[in-house]
Amino acid sequence: MIQMVDLKGQYLKVKAEIDDAINKVINETDFINGKAVKDFSVNLASYLNVKHVIPCANGTDALQIALMSLDLNIGDEIIVPAFTYVATAEVIGLLNLIPVLVDVDFNTFNIDVNSLKNAITKKTKAIVPVHLFGQCANMEKIMNIANEHNLYVIEDNAQAIGADYKCSDNTQKKSGTIGHIGCTSFFPSKNLGCYGDGGAIFTNDDTLALKIKMIANHGQNKKYYHKYIGVNSRLDTIQAAILDVKLKYLDNYNNARHLSAKFYSENLKDIEQIQTPVLSDFSTHVFHQYTLIIKNNKRDELKEFLNNNNISANIYYPLPLNEQEAFKSISKTSNSLKNTNELCKSVLSLPIHTELNKNTQNTIILKIKEFFKNNQN
Ligand SMILES: *Cc1c(COP(=O)(O)O)cnc(C)c1O
Repeated sequence: MIQMVDLKGQYLKVKAEIDDAINKVINETDFINGKAVKDFSVNLASYLNVKHVIPCANGTDALQIALMSLDLNIGDEIIVPAFTYVATAEVIGLLNLIPVLVDVDFNTFNIDVNSLKNAITKKTKAIVPVHLFGQCANMEKIMNIANEHNLYVIEDNAQAIGADYKCSDNTQKKSGTIGHIGCTSFFPSKNLGCYGDGGAIFTNDDTLALKIKMIANHGQNKKYYHKYIGVNSRLDTIQAAILDVKLKYLDNYNNARHLSAKFYSENLKDIEQIQTPVLSDFSTHVFHQYTLIIKNNKRDELKEFLNNNNISANIYYPLPLNEQEAFKSISKTSNSLKNTNELCKSVLSLPIHTELNKNTQNTIILKIKEFFKNNQN
C-alpha cells in the first residue's frame, strides 16, 4: 500500500542523530522541562524570527492557551473558517465562547476575507485564520480588518510551519508570526513532527508571552503562587530533543514536499475533471497536504478506485464544522457556506511526504489517469 506519509523512511535517514538525542535525555533523566526544551524553543524562535516561543503539549492546547490569554468573556464571538480541522473551533466552544463559522475561498481553501468581514459584530473579539494544507491565509487583509475592528488574530499554523508570507512591501515573515499569536502542532505527520504529541505558541508581544507561559504552567510564574487558572501543558524533553534535530532539516523537508507537489501538478493539470492546488502570490506553500478538487462528482469513486489499487488517498475534511453535531447548538454561521459545503464533497488529498519518489508518484498519476479515461464525465 502506498501510504499518505512515510515516517519510518524519514527516521532512517537521521536515525543516528535522533537516537543520540533521545539517549542523551534518558541518560540524564532530564524528562520534564529539560535542556532540549529550552534549546529547541530558542532555535525555533530564531528560525521563525519571532520573539517568544512557548512550547506546550499539542496543537489543540496551543490554541486553547492562546485564547485563554486574551481576557475573553463567555459568549464572545470568535471567527473561524468552517472548513478546517475540528481543533480550531473546538477549543472556542470548550471555553464557552461562540465559534462563528465563515466560508473559505474555493481555490485556496483559506478563510474568505469578505465572509470574514460580514461576520463581524459587536461581540466579535478574535479571528482564527487557518493556513490550511500549508499555504497562508491572506494575512495582510486579515490584519487590516482586525486592526480596524480592534480584534485579536490567532494564526492556526499547525499545517504551515516554515511557509513564507510575502507582504506587499516585499518583506517576508514566517507563517504564524504575523498575527498577535501563532499556534502550531508537532503531531508526527505534521511538516515538523515529533514522535508523539507536541505543540508551541509564538508571539512578539512580551505581555502576552508571559501570560501564555503562565497559563501553560498552572497559571504560575513562581512555583505554588497561582495568578490565573491555567492548564498543565508541556512539551516532553524527549520530543523537544527530536524536534531540535528535525528543525535543521525543515527547509529541506518542505522543499521535498514542494517538488513532489510540482510533479503531481505538472502531470495532472491536463485532466479536465481535476483542479490542482492553486498557489497564491502572497505565500509559499509547504504542502502539508496535496489536495485536488474533483469536479465531476466522482470524488468518492476515485478514492475507492485508488484505495483498491493500494494507493492511499484521504478526504480532509468530509463534513464541514457547520454540519457537525457537536457544533450545531453552540456555533453561529453568519453567511453562506457554499464553498465549504462544495469542497467537503469534492476534495481529495494524495500521498505527500518527504520521502516520496517519482516512481511512486508515477504509479499514482497513472492510476488517476486511468480512472478519468474510464469516467469522462
Ligand atoms: C493538527 C492540527 C491541530 C491540532 O494539533 P494536535 O497537535 O493534534 O492537537 C489544529 N489545527 C489544525 C489545522 C491541525 O491540522
